[in-house]
Amino acid sequence: MIELKNKKDCCGCYACKNVCSRNAISMVEDEKEFKYPKINYNYCINCGLCEKVCPIINESKEDTDIPLAYAAFNIDEQTRMNSSSGGLFSLIAEYILNNNGIVFGAIFDENFLVKHIKVEKIPEISKMMGSKYIQSNIGETYKEARKYLNEGKLVLYTGTPCQIEGLKKYLMRDYDNLYTQDLICHGVPSKKVWKKYLDYRKNIDNDILENISFRNKENRGWNEYELLFKYKNSNKYINHIEDIYMKIFLSDIALRDSCYDCKFKKKHRVSDITLADFWGINSILPEMNDEKGTSLLIINSLKGKDILNNIKDKIKLEQVNFEEAIKQNPSMIKSPKENEKRESFFIDLENNVELPELVEKYIVK
Ligand SMILES: Cc1cc2nc3c(=O)[nH]c(=O)nc-3n(C[C@H](O)[C@H](O)[C@H](O)COP(=O)(O)OP(=O)(O)OC[C@H]3O[C@@H](n4cnc5c(N)ncnc54)[C@H](O)[C@@H]3O)c2cc1C
Repeated sequence: MIELKNKKDCCGCYACKNVCSRNAISMVEDEKEFKYPKINYNYCINCGLCEKVCPIINESKEDTDIPLAYAAFNIDEQTRMNSSSGGLFSLIAEYILNNNGIVFGAIFDENFLVKHIKVEKIPEISKMMGSKYIQSNIGETYKEARKYLNEGKLVLYTGTPCQIEGLKKYLMRDYDNLYTQDLICHGVPSKKVWKKYLDYRKNIDNDILENISFRNKENRGWNEYELLFKYKNSNKYINHIEDIYMKIFLSDIALRDSCYDCKFKKKHRVSDITLADFWGINSILPEMNDEKGTSLLIINSLKGKDILNNIKDKIKLEQVNFEEAIKQNPSMIKSPKENEKRESFFIDLENNVELPELVEKYIVK
């Protein structure tokens, strides 16, 4: 059975929990509010499945084919403005739903915490659009996805690279009707910090929160990580990298332990498609940057090619050299360096030091 010696050995993908037919595994929060598996030995029959599906214990062999890379964006401008980069996710999701399929992805719940759900109707895709910089809770969605796969439905499962590897390991076999899309992922910050930040905003803004975007493009364009809190009475909080949560996220002080030694940052992903911001676009294809968002679209498999063929009339697309394209996006292959003050930061957080003070103490030089 799964036994964690080091927190870095668990990415929180929930594959072990989903596979355990005895319900012997619960996901329990640590003091930073990251979830880890806990075994109930009264139920465990020592079948070893939890170890077998762990994507960290069973690292995937990397393919040697060079993936295809493109600069791309959705030609529907409003959808692109509502997405983090080029608005490709929504097109892929739409294609799957139009073929009577199911799409799994990350949404904000009623408390603005992030979890994975499935959607079956096109208007519901909007809930999944946009990057949410907190770890998403997978819950039982791998099990749900398998049920639909066994019924023969098309399934698109989207998420961070660890979540996609977790799903694939959990399924234990290939399915022709499964499509997967991961991201170039910097890392996922602690829910504890996010909850504290939500409380902090609530106290200051004192209004009913309706929506959050981490990548609002209306004022500063695509490049600037503009954070938007939209309230019921048309009030808004708008800030960018000067916002305290964004400072915490971008300083790498509050990411999950496993993010500092991520096993899924690699060139050859197990997903069919990898999506990212095309950060190097100005040096490679400046004409593809109109500041409304350009995606780096990476095709990892024949199924990925198939999806691209089916959406290509709805996107502007230019093929680029893969190695060149990932040069300015280090998160493709490299884990962030652990901030040496991370533990003290969390101890202060536990002791109720306020976020602005924490940022002043640990982040502002
Ligand atoms: C935590 C995180 C870190 C990222 N780090 C980088 C980076 O370092 N470099 C880079 O180039 N791109 C990064 N991205 C990806 C990038 O921001 C865009 O999501 C990607 O380019 C797709 O954009 P889009 O416009 O096509 O679609 P969008 O509509 O913006 O993307 C929506 C997709 O993101 C998924 N998603 C959103 N939030 C989460 C979450 N918390 N967990 C799992 N899945 C989620 C949804 O399920 C959906 O599939 C990151 C995304 C996330 C969520």
